[in-house]
Amino acid sequence: MKPYLITVVLIIIAPSLSAESAAKPPRLKAHSLTDSAFWIEGGTANAGFVIGNDGVLLIDAQRTPAEGAAQMALIETITSRPITAIVITHADPDHVGGLPAYPAGARIIMQENARAQILSAATDNHGGPLFGPMYRKLAANHLPDQTVADLERITIAGIRVTLIHTAPAHTSGDLVVHLPEQKLVFGGDIVLSNQGRFPIIHVGGSSLGWLAAMNEILALDAKVIVPGHGPVETRRQLETRVADAKRRRAEIKKMVEAGKSLAQIDVTLPPETANSMFPSFNYTTYDELTQGYPPQRPPWASLVKPPR
Ligand SMILES: [Zn+2]
Repeated sequence: MKPYLITVVLIIIAPSLSAESAAKPPRLKAHSLTDSAFWIEGGTANAGFVIGNDGVLLIDAQRTPAEGAAQMALIETITSRPITAIVITHADPDHVGGLPAYPAGARIIMQENARAQILSAATDNHGGPLFGPMYRKLAANHLPDQTVADLERITIAGIRVTLIHTAPAHTSGDLVVHLPEQKLVFGGDIVLSNQGRFPIIHVGGSSLGWLAAMNEILALDAKVIVPGHGPVETRRQLETRVADAKRRRAEIKKMVEAGKSLAQIDVTLPPETANSMFPSFNYTTYDELTQGYPPQRPPWASLVKPPR
Protein backbone atom coordinates (compact mmCIF):
# COMPACT_ATOMS: atom_id res chain seq x y z
CA MET A 1 0.00 0.00 0.00
CA LYS A 2 1.37 3.36 -0.91
CA PRO A 3 2.54 5.55 1.96
CA TYR A 4 0.06 8.10 3.13
CA LEU A 5 0.71 11.18 5.17
CA ILE A 6 3.02 10.14 7.98
CA THR A 7 3.16 13.40 9.85
CA VAL A 8 0.71 14.77 12.35
CA VAL A 9 -2.16 16.60 10.71
CA LEU A 10 -3.91 19.36 12.54
CA ILE A 11 -7.30 20.75 11.76
CA ILE A 12 -9.46 23.32 13.41
CA ILE A 13 -13.13 22.65 13.15
CA ALA A 14 -15.11 24.43 10.47
CA PRO A 15 -18.33 26.23 11.41
CA SER A 16 -20.07 24.18 14.05
CA LEU A 17 -23.08 22.05 13.18
CA SER A 18 -24.52 22.25 16.67
CA ALA A 19 -24.78 25.08 19.12
CA GLU A 20 -23.65 23.00 22.08
CA SER A 21 -20.11 22.60 20.79
CA ALA A 22 -19.82 25.92 18.99
CA ALA A 23 -17.99 27.53 21.88
CA LYS A 24 -14.99 25.23 21.93
CA PRO A 25 -14.00 23.82 18.58
CA PRO A 26 -11.86 20.71 19.01
CA ARG A 27 -8.35 20.63 17.64
CA LEU A 28 -8.05 17.14 16.25
CA LYS A 29 -4.74 15.54 15.38
CA ALA A 30 -4.15 12.37 13.40
CA HIS A 31 -1.12 10.35 14.45
CA SER A 32 0.11 7.74 12.02
CA LEU A 33 0.50 4.22 13.40
CA THR A 34 1.32 2.49 10.09
CA ASP A 35 1.33 3.72 6.50
CA SER A 36 -2.45 3.37 6.43
CA ALA A 37 -3.65 3.53 10.06
CA PHE A 38 -4.04 6.56 12.31
CA TRP A 39 -5.34 7.41 15.74
CA ILE A 40 -7.02 10.72 16.40
CA GLU A 41 -6.63 12.77 19.55
CA GLY A 42 -7.99 16.15 20.57
CA GLY A 43 -11.72 15.36 20.53
CA THR A 44 -13.84 14.40 23.53
CA ALA A 45 -12.63 10.84 22.93
CA ASN A 46 -9.90 9.23 20.87
CA ALA A 47 -10.80 7.71 17.54
CA GLY A 48 -8.95 6.06 14.68
CA PHE A 49 -9.13 5.15 11.04
CA VAL A 50 -7.57 2.80 8.53
CA ILE A 51 -7.36 3.49 4.81
CA GLY A 52 -8.28 0.46 2.71
CA ASN A 53 -8.31 -0.34 -0.99
CA ASP A 54 -11.39 1.65 -1.81
CA GLY A 55 -12.59 3.12 1.45
CA VAL A 56 -11.91 3.96 5.07
CA LEU A 57 -12.71 2.08 8.25
CA LEU A 58 -13.43 4.56 11.05
CA ILE A 59 -13.35 3.65 14.72
CA ASP A 60 -15.67 5.83 16.82
CA ALA A 61 -17.64 8.90 15.82
CA GLN A 62 -16.79 11.59 18.43
CA ARG A 63 -19.36 13.20 20.76
CA THR A 64 -21.30 15.68 18.61
CA PRO A 65 -22.13 16.06 14.93
CA ALA A 66 -19.78 19.06 14.92
CA GLU A 67 -16.94 16.95 16.26
CA GLY A 68 -17.85 14.21 13.80
CA ALA A 69 -17.71 16.74 10.94
CA ALA A 70 -14.30 17.92 12.14
CA GLN A 71 -13.12 14.34 12.25
CA MET A 72 -14.36 13.69 8.73
CA ALA A 73 -12.67 16.90 7.52
CA LEU A 74 -9.44 15.75 9.13
CA ILE A 75 -9.64 12.37 7.39
CA GLU A 76 -10.30 14.12 4.08
CA THR A 77 -6.97 15.95 4.41
CA ILE A 78 -5.29 12.53 4.39
CA THR A 79 -7.34 10.49 1.93
CA SER A 80 -10.08 11.10 -0.62
CA ARG A 81 -11.48 7.61 -0.11
CA PRO A 82 -14.97 7.50 1.40
CA ILE A 83 -15.81 6.21 4.87
CA THR A 84 -17.04 2.67 4.27
CA ALA A 85 -17.82 1.66 7.83
CA ILE A 86 -17.84 3.07 11.35
CA VAL A 87 -17.15 0.65 14.19
CA ILE A 88 -18.40 1.93 17.54
CA THR A 89 -16.43 0.71 20.57
CA HIS A 90 -19.38 1.38 22.95
CA ALA A 91 -22.49 3.55 23.19
CA ASP A 92 -21.26 6.31 25.49
CA PRO A 93 -22.08 9.78 24.14
CA ASP A 94 -18.46 10.70 23.41
CA HIS A 95 -18.14 7.77 20.98
CA VAL A 96 -21.56 7.73 19.25
CA GLY A 97 -22.91 11.30 19.39
CA GLY A 98 -21.08 12.32 16.21
CA LEU A 99 -22.73 9.63 14.05
CA PRO A 100 -25.19 12.02 12.30
CA ALA A 101 -22.23 13.81 10.71
CA TYR A 102 -21.17 10.87 8.55
CA PRO A 103 -22.46 9.89 5.10
CA ALA A 104 -25.56 7.70 5.12
CA GLY A 105 -23.69 5.06 3.11
CA ALA A 106 -21.19 4.43 5.90
CA ARG A 107 -22.04 1.12 7.53
CA ILE A 108 -22.46 1.39 11.34
CA ILE A 109 -21.27 -1.60 13.38
CA MET A 110 -21.51 -2.03 17.14
CA GLN A 111 -22.00 -4.66 19.82
CA GLU A 112 -25.61 -5.74 20.25
CA ASN A 113 -25.88 -4.35 23.79
CA ALA A 114 -24.67 -0.96 22.54
CA ARG A 115 -27.61 -0.90 20.11
CA ALA A 116 -29.97 -1.80 22.96
CA GLN A 117 -28.49 0.97 25.12
CA ILE A 118 -29.15 3.56 22.42
CA LEU A 119 -32.78 2.42 22.16
CA SER A 120 -33.22 2.35 25.92
CA ALA A 121 -31.58 5.77 26.34
CA ALA A 122 -33.87 7.20 23.65
CA THR A 123 -36.97 6.24 25.61
CA ASP A 124 -35.68 7.29 29.03
CA ASN A 125 -36.74 10.74 30.16
CA HIS A 126 -33.75 11.44 32.38
CA GLY A 127 -31.15 12.22 29.73
CA GLY A 128 -31.64 15.96 30.02
CA PRO A 129 -31.45 18.40 27.11
CA LEU A 130 -28.03 17.16 26.06
CA PHE A 131 -28.26 13.36 26.07
CA GLY A 132 -32.02 12.88 25.54
CA PRO A 133 -32.24 14.42 22.05
CA MET A 134 -28.89 12.90 21.10
CA TYR A 135 -29.99 9.31 21.73
CA ARG A 136 -33.45 9.90 20.23
CA LYS A 137 -31.77 11.07 17.03
CA LEU A 138 -29.50 8.03 16.99
CA ALA A 139 -32.40 5.67 17.65
CA ALA A 140 -34.41 7.24 14.82
CA ASN A 141 -31.74 7.40 12.12
CA HIS A 142 -28.40 5.94 13.13
CA LEU A 143 -28.92 2.47 14.51
CA PRO A 144 -26.29 -0.06 13.46
CA ASP A 145 -26.45 -1.85 10.12
CA GLN A 146 -24.67 -4.75 11.79
CA THR A 147 -24.34 -5.86 15.41
CA VAL A 148 -21.76 -8.16 16.92
CA ALA A 149 -22.45 -10.65 19.72
CA ASP A 150 -19.06 -11.94 20.86
CA LEU A 151 -16.75 -12.25 17.84
CA GLU A 152 -16.80 -11.27 14.18
CA ARG A 153 -14.00 -11.46 11.63
CA ILE A 154 -14.85 -9.23 8.71
CA THR A 155 -13.16 -7.44 5.83
CA ILE A 156 -13.96 -3.79 5.22
CA ALA A 157 -12.50 -2.01 2.16
CA GLY A 158 -9.94 -4.79 2.00
CA ILE A 159 -8.97 -4.34 5.67
CA ARG A 160 -9.16 -7.44 7.85
CA VAL A 161 -10.68 -6.62 11.21
CA THR A 162 -11.62 -8.71 14.21
CA LEU A 163 -14.33 -7.38 16.54
CA ILE A 164 -14.27 -8.89 20.00
CA HIS A 165 -16.69 -8.71 22.92
CA THR A 166 -15.43 -10.93 25.70
CA ALA A 167 -17.61 -9.79 28.56
CA PRO A 168 -19.14 -6.54 29.82
CA ALA A 169 -16.16 -4.42 30.92
CA HIS A 170 -16.34 -0.62 30.72
CA THR A 171 -19.97 -1.06 29.61
CA SER A 172 -22.04 -4.07 28.64
CA GLY A 173 -21.68 -3.16 24.96
CA ASP A 174 -17.90 -2.96 24.50
CA LEU A 175 -16.17 -3.97 21.29
CA VAL A 176 -12.42 -4.36 20.99
CA VAL A 177 -11.18 -3.68 17.45
CA HIS A 178 -8.17 -5.76 16.37
CA LEU A 179 -6.41 -5.16 13.06
CA PRO A 180 -4.22 -8.24 12.70
CA GLU A 181 -2.36 -7.09 9.57
CA GLN A 182 -1.50 -3.71 11.08
CA LYS A 183 -0.91 -5.27 14.53
CA LEU A 184 -3.13 -2.64 16.16
CA VAL A 185 -5.86 -2.69 18.78
CA PHE A 186 -8.42 0.03 19.49
CA GLY A 187 -9.60 -0.74 23.01
CA GLY A 188 -12.34 1.88 23.45
CA ASP A 189 -12.81 2.88 27.08
CA ILE A 190 -11.78 -0.53 28.37
CA VAL A 191 -8.34 1.02 27.98
CA LEU A 192 -7.98 4.47 29.53
CA SER A 193 -4.58 6.06 29.97
CA ASN A 194 -5.50 9.44 31.46
CA GLN A 195 -8.27 8.55 33.94
CA GLY A 196 -6.29 7.28 36.89
CA ARG A 197 -4.86 3.95 37.90
CA PHE A 198 -8.11 1.96 37.96
CA PRO A 199 -10.71 1.23 35.26
CA ILE A 200 -14.03 3.02 34.94
CA ILE A 201 -16.92 0.57 35.05
CA HIS A 202 -20.42 1.78 34.20
CA VAL A 203 -23.58 1.19 32.10
CA GLY A 204 -23.75 -2.50 32.87
CA GLY A 205 -19.98 -2.97 32.86
CA SER A 206 -18.22 -5.36 35.19
CA SER A 207 -14.89 -5.38 37.00
CA LEU A 208 -14.51 -9.11 36.38
CA GLY A 209 -15.38 -8.63 32.73
CA TRP A 210 -12.87 -5.80 32.52
CA LEU A 211 -10.12 -8.08 33.75
CA ALA A 212 -11.13 -10.71 31.17
CA ALA A 213 -11.27 -8.13 28.38
CA MET A 214 -7.88 -6.66 29.27
CA ASN A 215 -6.30 -10.09 29.37
CA GLU A 216 -7.80 -10.79 25.95
CA ILE A 217 -6.44 -7.50 24.60
CA LEU A 218 -2.98 -8.23 25.97
CA ALA A 219 -3.05 -11.66 24.31
CA LEU A 220 -3.69 -10.18 20.85
CA ASP A 221 -0.89 -9.78 18.34
CA ALA A 222 -0.55 -5.99 18.52
CA LYS A 223 2.30 -3.54 18.65
CA VAL A 224 0.13 -0.58 19.64
CA ILE A 225 -3.02 -0.47 21.75
CA VAL A 226 -4.97 2.76 21.39
CA PRO A 227 -7.00 3.81 24.45
CA GLY A 228 -10.43 5.43 24.33
CA HIS A 229 -8.95 8.43 26.12
CA GLY A 230 -5.39 9.56 26.70
CA PRO A 231 -2.12 8.78 24.99
CA VAL A 232 -1.06 5.37 23.75
CA GLU A 233 0.45 3.24 26.50
CA THR A 234 2.99 0.48 26.42
CA ARG A 235 2.04 -3.14 26.91
CA ARG A 236 3.96 -3.03 30.20
CA GLN A 237 1.82 -0.13 31.46
CA LEU A 238 -1.34 -2.05 30.58
CA GLU A 239 -0.08 -5.15 32.37
CA THR A 240 0.54 -3.00 35.45
CA ARG A 241 -3.04 -1.66 35.25
CA VAL A 242 -4.44 -5.19 35.11
CA ALA A 243 -2.29 -6.29 38.06
CA ASP A 244 -3.31 -3.22 40.12
CA ALA A 245 -7.03 -3.71 39.40
CA LYS A 246 -6.88 -7.43 40.08
CA ARG A 247 -5.16 -6.85 43.41
CA ARG A 248 -7.59 -4.09 44.42
CA ARG A 249 -10.62 -6.17 43.45
CA ALA A 250 -9.37 -9.04 45.59
CA GLU A 251 -8.83 -6.66 48.54
CA ILE A 252 -12.32 -5.18 48.15
CA LYS A 253 -13.86 -8.64 47.93
CA LYS A 254 -12.12 -9.72 51.11
CA MET A 255 -13.47 -6.68 52.97
CA VAL A 256 -17.00 -7.07 51.52
CA GLU A 257 -17.07 -10.67 52.67
CA ALA A 258 -15.87 -9.53 56.11
CA GLY A 259 -18.92 -7.22 56.28
CA LYS A 260 -17.17 -3.89 55.70
CA SER A 261 -19.12 -0.94 54.32
CA LEU A 262 -18.00 1.02 51.27
CA ALA A 263 -17.03 3.93 53.56
CA GLN A 264 -14.80 1.59 55.57
CA ILE A 265 -13.28 0.19 52.40
CA ASP A 266 -12.59 3.73 51.13
CA VAL A 267 -10.65 4.46 54.32
CA THR A 268 -8.46 1.39 53.93
CA LEU A 269 -8.11 1.75 50.16
CA PRO A 270 -8.44 5.42 49.11
CA PRO A 271 -10.52 5.32 45.89
CA GLU A 272 -8.12 7.43 43.75
CA THR A 273 -11.03 8.70 41.66
CA ALA A 274 -9.51 10.52 38.70
CA ASN A 275 -12.71 11.51 36.91
CA SER A 276 -15.42 12.83 39.21
CA MET A 277 -18.08 12.23 36.54
CA PHE A 278 -17.83 8.51 37.22
CA PRO A 279 -18.09 6.30 40.29
CA SER A 280 -14.83 4.96 41.66
CA PHE A 281 -13.57 1.43 41.04
CA ASN A 282 -14.13 0.83 44.76
CA TYR A 283 -17.77 1.87 44.37
CA THR A 284 -18.52 -0.20 41.27
CA THR A 285 -16.75 -3.28 42.57
CA TYR A 286 -18.53 -2.95 45.93
CA ASP A 287 -21.82 -2.52 44.05
CA GLU A 288 -21.22 -5.71 42.05
CA LEU A 289 -20.20 -7.71 45.10
CA THR A 290 -23.13 -6.57 47.24
CA GLN A 291 -25.96 -6.04 44.70
CA GLY A 292 -25.25 -8.72 42.15
CA TYR A 293 -24.58 -8.00 38.55
CA PRO A 294 -25.71 -4.41 37.77
CA PRO A 295 -28.86 -3.95 35.69
CA GLN A 296 -28.89 -2.03 32.41
CA ARG A 297 -29.10 1.68 32.97
CA PRO A 298 -28.95 4.66 30.64
CA PRO A 299 -25.48 6.21 30.29
CA TRP A 300 -26.17 9.09 32.69
CA ALA A 301 -27.62 6.96 35.47
CA SER A 302 -24.23 5.99 36.81
CA LEU A 303 -22.69 9.45 36.57
CA VAL A 304 -21.94 11.16 39.84
CA LYS A 305 -22.89 14.53 38.31
CA PRO A 306 -26.12 14.24 36.32
CA PRO A 307 -26.28 16.16 33.03
CA ARG A 308 -27.73 19.64 33.26
ZN1 LIG B 1 -15.19 7.67 26.30
